Amino acid sequence: MAFEGLTDRLQKAFKNLRGKGKISESDLRETMREIRLALLEADVNFKVVRQFVKTVQEKAKGADVLEGLNPAQQIVKIVNDELTNMMGESATPLVKSDKIPTVIMMVGLQGAGKTTSAGKLAKKLKTDDHARPLMIAADVYRPAAIEQLEKVGEQVGVPVFQEGTDVDPVQIVQDGLKEADKNNNDYVLIDTAGRLQIDENLMDELKNIKKVANPNDILLVVDAMTGQSAVDTAVGFNDALDITGVILTKLDGDTRGGAALSIRAVTDKPIMFVGQGEKLDDLDVFHPDRMASRILG
Ligand code: GDP
Repeated sequence: MAFEGLTDRLQKAFKNLRGKGKISESDLRETMREIRLALLEADVNFKVVRQFVKTVQEKAKGADVLEGLNPAQQIVKIVNDELTNMMGESATPLVKSDKIPTVIMMVGLQGAGKTTSAGKLAKKLKTDDHARPLMIAADVYRPAAIEQLEKVGEQVGVPVFQEGTDVDPVQIVQDGLKEADKNNNDYVLIDTAGRLQIDENLMDELKNIKKVANPNDILLVVDAMTGQSAVDTAVGFNDALDITGVILTKLDGDTRGGAALSIRAVTDKPIMFVGQGEKLDDLDVFHPDRMASRILG
């Protein structure tokens, strides 16, 4: 299960404090040392860990926590609050554009779960908002990608616009947007090409698509299982495209948690949704407070 190791280690770190009427500064230091190691082991970015430990320590020392009532409980609460803060405090919803369609551009590396997430999001919009989305297949480098999006579209009952693999993706997006206008679609989801790694060609193409599509949201899909490299991917895409948010996939796997805990702090962009399974219903709005509670167990 995701975060299992982290949850165990954090609980162990708090164990020394439980039942103590008073907590000494050296008790606190020892606990913070263990929390620091637990976070580093969970693959949380080291700068994020440093800042986190500093903040928790200051708060614990500052508010007469150590000698107050239930000091251990208060420290757990401070850790809980700071974990929440680190992930962005509250959920970040998608914002509907004033004029239709609301355009959402999906970007990410190959295999992260971009196509699946496009389908999940289309389904969510359809079900929760009674929206009429159109998906545009703009990944022309893998013939299977178009087929896969069409299959997903069929499963969720959402039309897919495609022009095969011989047309320039920027052109496909322009044509797809015209199609959406014609059909009065209120949402357009653009499935862009993924590559094995970030390269200039990929970014140039995405920048060009961004120019013509003028998206309301650019959602980066990253795989939680890849830990620190998910964070690096987020930094790369954000630098090039100024993404608006992240969909973190495969949180149902046994990820150690580093990506979930670092992305917001490192990029200043929120995780908006999490993928928690392969089925097309398995997409949830990301709630930092609930995630913090889940991590603390
Ligand atoms: P793309 O190359 O980024 O478009 O990735 P795909 O959408 O093809 O997904 C790659 C693989 O990851 C597929 O086998 C998906 O079923 C799987 N996948 C996507 N999201 C999730 C998720 O949240 N949980 C799990 N367990 N698998 C996922």
